[in-house]
Amino acid sequence: MAQDAPTTIHLKDYKPAPYVPGDLFLNFSLEPRATRVTSRLQFSANPASKEKNAALVLTGERIKLVSVKLDSKALAASDYVFTDSDLTIPNIPAAPFTLEIETECDPVGNTALSGLYQSSGIFCTQCEAEGFRRITYFYDRPDVMTRYTVRMEANKAACPVLLSNGNFQEGGDIAGTDRHFAVWHDPHPKPSYLFALVAGDLAGVHGSFTTMSSKTVQLGIYVEKGKEDRCAWAMESLKASMRWDETAFGREYDLDVFNIVAVSDFNMGAMENKGLNVFNDKYILALPETATDLDYTNIEAIIAHEYFHNWTGNRITCRDWFQLCLKEGLTVFRDQEFSSDLRSRAVKRITDVKTLRARQMPEDAGPLAHPPRPNAYIEINNFYTPTVYEKGAEICRMMKTLIGEKAFRKAMDLYFERHDGEAATVEDFVACMADASGRDLSQFFKWYEQAGTPHVKVTTHYDAKAKTFDLTLAQKTAPTPGQADKQPMHIPLGLGLVGPSGEDMALDLEGVGSLNAPIIELTEEKKLFRFRNVTARPVLSLNRGFSAPVILQENVSPEDQLFLMGRDKDTFNRWEAGQSLGKSLIIANLAALRDKLPPPRSKGYADALQKTLADTTLDAAFKALMLGLPTEADIAAAIAKDVDTDLVLQSRNRLRAELGAELKDSLLAIWKDTEERGAYAPTPENTGRRSLRYAALGLLAAGAPKIAVDLIQRDLAKASNMTAEIGALSALVGIDAPETNLELENFHARHAGDSLLVDKWFSLHSQVATPGAAARIEALMGHPDFRLSTPNRVYALIGGFTAMNLSGFHAADGEGYRVVADTILKLDKTNPQVAARLATGFRSWRLMDEARRKAATVQLERIVATPGLSRDCFEIASKTLKG
Ligand SMILES: [Zn+2]
Repeated sequence: MAQDAPTTIHLKDYKPAPYVPGDLFLNFSLEPRATRVTSRLQFSANPASKEKNAALVLTGERIKLVSVKLDSKALAASDYVFTDSDLTIPNIPAAPFTLEIETECDPVGNTALSGLYQSSGIFCTQCEAEGFRRITYFYDRPDVMTRYTVRMEANKAACPVLLSNGNFQEGGDIAGTDRHFAVWHDPHPKPSYLFALVAGDLAGVHGSFTTMSSKTVQLGIYVEKGKEDRCAWAMESLKASMRWDETAFGREYDLDVFNIVAVSDFNMGAMENKGLNVFNDKYILALPETATDLDYTNIEAIIAHEYFHNWTGNRITCRDWFQLCLKEGLTVFRDQEFSSDLRSRAVKRITDVKTLRARQMPEDAGPLAHPPRPNAYIEINNFYTPTVYEKGAEICRMMKTLIGEKAFRKAMDLYFERHDGEAATVEDFVACMADASGRDLSQFFKWYEQAGTPHVKVTTHYDAKAKTFDLTLAQKTAPTPGQADKQPMHIPLGLGLVGPSGEDMALDLEGVGSLNAPIIELTEEKKLFRFRNVTARPVLSLNRGFSAPVILQENVSPEDQLFLMGRDKDTFNRWEAGQSLGKSLIIANLAALRDKLPPPRSKGYADALQKTLADTTLDAAFKALMLGLPTEADIAAAIAKDVDTDLVLQSRNRLRAELGAELKDSLLAIWKDTEERGAYAPTPENTGRRSLRYAALGLLAAGAPKIAVDLIQRDLAKASNMTAEIGALSALVGIDAPETNLELENFHARHAGDSLLVDKWFSLHSQVATPGAAARIEALMGHPDFRLSTPNRVYALIGGFTAMNLSGFHAADGEGYRVVADTILKLDKTNPQVAARLATGFRSWRLMDEARRKAATVQLERIVATPGLSRDCFEIASKTLKG
């Protein structure tokens, strides 16, 4: 793709298409190197369009145009104009008119994995966001919805299974040939990005589900032959999702069949095509000996997410791609609620906030910051971001907090009723929330339009004589690229005033009275909240449950933090107090290291953790989270400028070593108590027990490495499930010992040939934070198992390196940056989407010290200046460099 003048697309330029398609018939004659596609449909004038007698302009990319027929008459080459991005027919008869187009594409040559491609011999499609245009010329935009009938034919031996969206209609052999065919019809109008086709030699695992109105739905999961025994958990998760959407939202499934296909080469996690979801196989395949607890919970959540899209995304879709968070934010929120209902709500919330802090907040604070609903883009594939997904979900959560559970459900019912079958906007969605609750959400809407994470400065004053507690909150959002001036946001903050005995005190707010719900709303730039009848000095517990995605700037004494760690009845804030205290200790430690001073005292922190571990009322998963210190990236973000990542690593390691040594006996006791008993089950209870075991082992590895190496090797020798193997190895990669390499090699030897486990091996290597990390990564790219064409492998090694190895990627000599830039440039030639995603790893370069910033600039400039760079990579790299 030439890179001279990439076009920017703006929200304000939205216009409805001049014509609307009637039912679409597609015929595929599947061949690996030359697949013929015929599309036949009727177009009518679009009443919503102001354009009259407009030319018909359809998009198409990297396909060969074979023929065009308008009202059954073949067009001559002079009757149309076609470029590498569209087909224009200027002289259109009065609508309605029919169009028949024949095109040809090359699935094997399609290394970008967008459109129709082959993965391990299986024909497969990925059309979101703009892949359909690589199949045929069409209005490839989400607001153009129609009913699809798809006929496909292929060699019967190579492709015994032929699948598409909707319900199966007919199929059979084609007489006199070695081919067969199938016809699928989807009765629900859909946009082209939800089209899917799969053909190949797949094994099917079948089940069924009876819906709330007693309809039977046939369920199928299709995988590579020999992997059928790894589908049981996915099938169970699918049924649980279908049941939950009926109970929680009254949403019933609407086709006779629901199929899932797992493929090994896939750019994203999974795709919600109507009635035919396509998954990255790492989110389907699971056996106790091949998948970890985390894999099991991810599979459950991602199956749910894609299934929930059937209503939020498919039945109601997006008017244009700027509205992406309408379907994604809402569906992430729904899958978070699903996991919270099935597992521990408190643990789920903490895990989600950790993800938000690791992925979204750095984006919001860096050069790639954008509003959840962006107003411009160059390449839409670059906007499948944590901001659109995770912050989008936070916005839905805040609306629920503001209007309450009952009104939220009413608003969702209204949304489904009002917009079913439509391509909607974020405004439409928020209007339902406002109409169902009677609340004015106009200021709240800023969350969709304003980028950046608000900082809320907290000051408090307790007046013992007047028995008042003054809470002053001041909000500020820093400028982000393209948005210099920020306006105050509407921020719902959960809170508690914790009394000396650990009990919540009554909330009597001046001007309001007794609060019905323990929530205050900050809408001004600055506001004083005065609480009355506060009989003793309280400890403030603010933003309980992380009710708003903001950063609190509080001056809390270590004593109060320790108090909240042990006493806050809000589980999230108990964990949060531990994180804040850990963060301040690591930062103080870092200053001491730099100035060669003795480290700060961490005894109180260790004691508080000790108490947490001994508390029998707390569940194991929560204790495991309490043992986790803030990440290196969290620390870098808190320091925010001139960061020396080596010092961050050393300082964090030093605190971990101290805590590990201090807590040694308790950690050993945990190791003894949490041994595997009985058969593996991914239940919340067992998962929690194992997470505590490996969190304890990790901390022990820091504090008593010799003892830990011994225990880890014992664990590895008798590991009966993958969680045990990965848990032990993750603890081991933190130790610089000969055993580390030995055990990593043993793991590879045990699991060579199992691609998902080889990915895990690369991922473990990517995290080894000893000096020379970049050179090791480069050497691993030369390993016979490394494949640049498989996104999972690239994400495991290079993605893992940029995200989980702060000191290695941001090494002062610039080698980490160079190795990643080399990979991006190599990959950009074949798969620009994945290359661009790797490039986002550079987003925090401005936090670093001068030497690192210089080194990052050199590599970013090199990427941007590369001739023939894709628009995907150009957009990310140039914005990262400028921002
Ligand atoms: Zn989604």
